[in-house]
Amino acid sequence: MASRLSISAGDLTKVYLSRLGKVRERMSALGVDALVLSLGADLPWLIGYKAMPLERLTALVVRLHEQPVLVVPALEEPRVVPHGELFKVRPWREYEDPYEIVVRAIRGCSRVGMSDRMWAASLLKFQLNCTANFIPASQVTRSLRSVKDLIEQAMLAEAARRTDEVADAVIGGEINFIGRSEREISMEISERLLDAGLNKVNFSIVGSGPNSASPHHEPGRRVIGESEAVVCDFGGEFQLDASAGYCSDITRTVVTGEMPERFIELYSVLEIAQRRQREHVRAGVSCEKLDEVGRSYIENFGYDEYFIHRTGHGIGIEEHEEPYIVAGNLDYVEPGNAFSIEPGIYIPNLYGARIEDIVIATESGCDVLNNVDRSLHRVG
Ligand code: ZN
Ligand code: ZN
Ligand code: ZN
Repeated sequence: MASRLSISAGDLTKVYLSRLGKVRERMSALGVDALVLSLGADLPWLIGYKAMPLERLTALVVRLHEQPVLVVPALEEPRVVPHGELFKVRPWREYEDPYEIVVRAIRGCSRVGMSDRMWAASLLKFQLNCTANFIPASQVTRSLRSVKDLIEQAMLAEAARRTDEVADAVIGGEINFIGRSEREISMEISERLLDAGLNKVNFSIVGSGPNSASPHHEPGRRVIGESEAVVCDFGGEFQLDASAGYCSDITRTVVTGEMPERFIELYSVLEIAQRRQREHVRAGVSCEKLDEVGRSYIENFGYDEYFIHRTGHGIGIEEHEEPYIVAGNLDYVEPGNAFSIEPGIYIPNLYGARIEDIVIATESGCDVLNNVDRSLHRVG
């Protein structure tokens, strides 16, 4: 892929119009008369605009046969990039009631999809002022958003490529570990992610020694010593002007010296399990099966009780979204699904390891977006 990704405003309008068409098809199929999209990823996915997570209401009203209207605080209107063919803008002044404006716009609708991430306070106001039957907007958008179109795939690939640069620095010894605190290293990783061109860091987990056995460890003051495992799991968001940002997420585990035989074994079991899972990805396999092919391998070595989380999560505008790669999810993988493969083995109070990559499913396999070496690296 070209190192400089660019998408013209005209192309974006076309993409959004095609998404709007699919949304309306699904609305008709489900008997949904309107969507009210506020906070959350549905709105940026559909028109490129992300509502500010404040108390003032922002909402896009989508109906079947009328042009969508973005009801937005007047003071935030300058942030809106207009796509004239796509939606109208209705700025509201501080003395106006935005809820009334939206309720008027959905008059006559009996089934209305509301953003899953809308503030409860907003939803309660709508419920007081409107007799429509409300359902989660995700019933309409979920299956559409989980299949990434070509622009989304390019955005995810670009986010991953930039994040890989930092992961290469982690395993390649460019970052010093011994004698520094987890927090210092976490901050250095964050800074490098921004330098690599991500516009935002979402998280930067550094778990060392016994903390490496805590999958979502909050990096702290612990100073890293010799012969320890260190789990580094980080990601951010890549964004082009005036379009939604897309997330990255990678985990590599490094060691700071000689490790016990058991850890070396554990790591090689994990590496093989993760590879089996990646190689198993293709359209038509169930999400549950992808979890199982790694978990059963890990079980053969008696580590199954130490693999304490699901195999992965979808990724896109949100860090975690559909599909979830977990036991009990019978959904089939579709071409264009983007998700993580991230098994881990964690021996409480001792050490742990995780390997994580983002993949995009194709008909016959998958594109692996992260291409940083997965073998165990020793760093200083
Ligand atoms: Zn996680
Ligand atoms: Zn991660
Ligand atoms: Zn993840």
